[in-house]
Amino acid sequence: MNFNSGKEIIDLCKIEDKKIYELMIEREIELKDTTEAKIREDMGISLQIMKKAIEDSITKDIKSISGLIGGDAKKIYHRESIKGGSICGSIMKRAIAYSMGVLEVNASMGKIVAAPTAGSSGIIPGTLIALQEEHDLSDTDIINALITSSAIGLIVSKNATVAGAEGGCQAETGTAAAMAAGAIVEMMGGSVEQSFHAAATSLKNILGLVCDPIAGLVEAPCEKRNAIGASNALISAEMSLCSVESLIPFDEVVEAMYKIGRALPFELKETALGGLADTETGRRIKEEIHDN
Ligand code: SF4
Repeated sequence: MNFNSGKEIIDLCKIEDKKIYELMIEREIELKDTTEAKIREDMGISLQIMKKAIEDSITKDIKSISGLIGGDAKKIYHRESIKGGSICGSIMKRAIAYSMGVLEVNASMGKIVAAPTAGSSGIIPGTLIALQEEHDLSDTDIINALITSSAIGLIVSKNATVAGAEGGCQAETGTAAAMAAGAIVEMMGGSVEQSFHAAATSLKNILGLVCDPIAGLVEAPCEKRNAIGASNALISAEMSLCSVESLIPFDEVVEAMYKIGRALPFELKETALGGLADTETGRRIKEEIHDN
């Protein structure tokens, strides 16, 4: 059992009447000489790390080593206690706060799961755990969703890249959003085609997004791009579950993302020489951090 494209996964799921996570488990067992129990145990450990990072970010005073980010997840999470409540609603509020919180924990040298990278590590846990809390889903549901998300990430890794240094931020936060959106759709009862429509939509939504971390640190604009990535994943999943389809198939979107990534100048691929990193304020922040 192996697959190299979204289309192959869709075909296999339909032929074998299986979910994406079931195919992924079979693949791992065949290629890595492991067992389903071990795969689930390992993913369960990852889930606990994700939950701990989120919990810490909304209960503790977190500040990144540079001081650029920290405390924003807490502000957003507790917004409902303030007059007027959240304008985005409860689930989006949680997803935004949690996805930003994981980035804060990462930037303060805490433990996170790089899914698929440290810079985009908030999107998958932020959305899945927000959904778990809002819809009373089990840890098994979330572990299945994490396995599904890994299958989508695998396809992007095989055919393009998930690295900001190679493809820009579209490759990092775009892929994370695609992984989350596809997994959410499957977890919430959508078809395999709908999962890949959601994944395609998420990636399409931020094609061309450059990687321009201020002072070269995975903090800003990364943290807020995780919030946008989480929103992107939820919106794309909602559209797809309502049978709104992507005109361009997932595999072609991945190909387009890779071509765009290769066409981006090196200044916009994690070198911190362009974009927001090369603004007046971005350069001043870099000097201040490096002088301290
Ligand atoms: S800006 Fe660059 S470092 Fe930051 S999340 Fe995006 S790809 Fe990662």
